[in-house]
Amino acid sequence: MDKSRINILSEEVVGKISAGEVVERPASVVKELIENSIDAGSDSIEIQVESAGQMLIRVADNGRGMNPEELKMACLPHATSKIRQIPDLDNIRSLGFRGEALASIAAVSQMELTSCCEGSDSGFYVYLESGQLLRSRPAGRSKGTTVEVRNLFYNVPARRKFLNRESTELAEIANVVGRFILSYENIEFRLKQSDRCLLHAGGDLDAAERIRLVLGGDFADHLMGVSCSGEGFSIRGFASLPSCTRRDKRGQLFFVNGRFVRSKLLSDAVFVAYRSMLERGKYPSVVLFTEIDPSSVDVNVHPAKLEIKFDDEKTLKNAVIRSIKNEFDSARKAEEGSPDLSSETDLRSQTVNADSSGGPPEEQSEFSYDFTVNEDESQKKEYILREVNSFRDDRKTPADNIYQVADCYIVRLAREDITITDQHAAHERILYEYLRGTTENSPIETQNLLFPIRMELSARETILMEKVIDNFRDIGFLIEPFGERSFIVQSVPALIKDRDIKTVVEQILNDLFSVDLSKVDPVNELIKLTSCRAAIKAGDKLSREEMHSLVQKLEECELPFTCPHGRPTMTTIGKKDLEKMFRRK
Ligand code: ADP
Ligand code: MG
Repeated sequence: MDKSRINILSEEVVGKISAGEVVERPASVVKELIENSIDAGSDSIEIQVESAGQMLIRVADNGRGMNPEELKMACLPHATSKIRQIPDLDNIRSLGFRGEALASIAAVSQMELTSCCEGSDSGFYVYLESGQLLRSRPAGRSKGTTVEVRNLFYNVPARRKFLNRESTELAEIANVVGRFILSYENIEFRLKQSDRCLLHAGGDLDAAERIRLVLGGDFADHLMGVSCSGEGFSIRGFASLPSCTRRDKRGQLFFVNGRFVRSKLLSDAVFVAYRSMLERGKYPSVVLFTEIDPSSVDVNVHPAKLEIKFDDEKTLKNAVIRSIKNEFDSARKAEEGSPDLSSETDLRSQTVNADSSGGPPEEQSEFSYDFTVNEDESQKKEYILREVNSFRDDRKTPADNIYQVADCYIVRLAREDITITDQHAAHERILYEYLRGTTENSPIETQNLLFPIRMELSARETILMEKVIDNFRDIGFLIEPFGERSFIVQSVPALIKDRDIKTVVEQILNDLFSVDLSKVDPVNELIKLTSCRAAIKAGDKLSREEMHSLVQKLEECELPFTCPHGRPTMTTIGKKDLEKMFRRK
């Protein structure tokens, strides 16, 4: 008989696979280790990294520590001191609870832990490689824990290769530490690479000062405090004035019971609160802290605990909208009586002026970064900003360093790298997000055609067209029947007005024949087909301006790196890649 083809995986393989869920990159290690330090009651946490965490991540805290037994157990899979039984899952007050982080990190690195708990006169040390405990011994340490993670992914070469450039990884680590700085006002955080201090928030830094440190002066100078509470929850935080916006949502940070989460619910609420005041493509910055009864949220819906499910979504969403809108209302009231200001900010009816709306008093704007070591303050500030922004800045290209190759690829040359964008995939992504955003958030922006287009369809096409004509309308195509088998296209989504509409609609119909419309959401299907068919094609010649506008719009996308089918939209060849190609290193 044939040998069974099904194997039970060895513990080592299982460990590595599940490690992949928790430990995606150096920043995820930093996040998990800081969470443990906070759960251990620390009020001072120092994070040291080398080569953006790929060589070393060291997190040292002054928390309650572990005794030798606990220390040996902590790195076993599913070892946690934070929950015991199923009901505990409904009442999670700690950041960790899955008992996976240390085991996962240990599985893909060389890890040492030194810890000492209260009342003990010496500490203990353990060393693990690929999750195996190799050495342990007593070791000197004051109360607290130090975890050192070396050579992350040394035993998972595929993952190691997948890591981004160091500047990107470091920026992500700074983002992670920044979020904790915002959320834990009473904890001192210090992030260092080599002997350079990248971020330092003393334990005495208040919320607004932490915002200035982490999110920059622009937001800190144009924010308003928001707060609101309801049964079983309270919300407080800061929201930017409508005059202070970004082109992406990166300034929107949500915390629930201290934990940073991504939340469509909360970001939609923010969108609604600002809707009438902002242009398309402009996003406010907000930092919102929600405290909520742990039994009414589920934090166990994402391996890295980055997502959360609320029991009563509607009430919470409304509360967020209200907390922000109330501030606008009172700002507007304060502004009444100073009519000369409203003309400066074109915000339709709900005008709020940055200077007159109860922003922070003068002396707060004087605050500068609190760095400890005696290097030049402004130099450091610039350094961090550069690091954190490096990812975006690298792609800003001087006007003439952009070329079209093979009538298909947009090539941009920067000082240290070359970025290649697939013009079709990029445009497809842009159109997709545009069409989808419009249906989700606001009425569609349509363009009436100066010369409406008449289309003669076959019998089969006519039947299909009648079926989807309303769905077409949902995404901005106004198409009307005009006799037996003719239709007139009156208006189209504004962004595609210059494309060959007749061909686009014909192709979409043609594509729709192979889709089972009873099994999919027809609007979503139309969005996908329209973005594909209306996108610039390979072979289309583009002017410099068109190329610039395309790459800029792509950068504004929420998911700029892939087209809706998952193909890459752009790739970067960095200095390191070039060195490799020419075997310099
Ligand atoms: P979890 O945080 O989900 O419990 P981890 O794998 O992150 O799982 O940690 C396992 C256990 O190790 C924790 O429950 C805690 O008891 C202990 N531990 C980890 N880090 C620290 C630390 N810095 N200080 C004290 N105890 C710690
Ligand atoms: Mg943990």
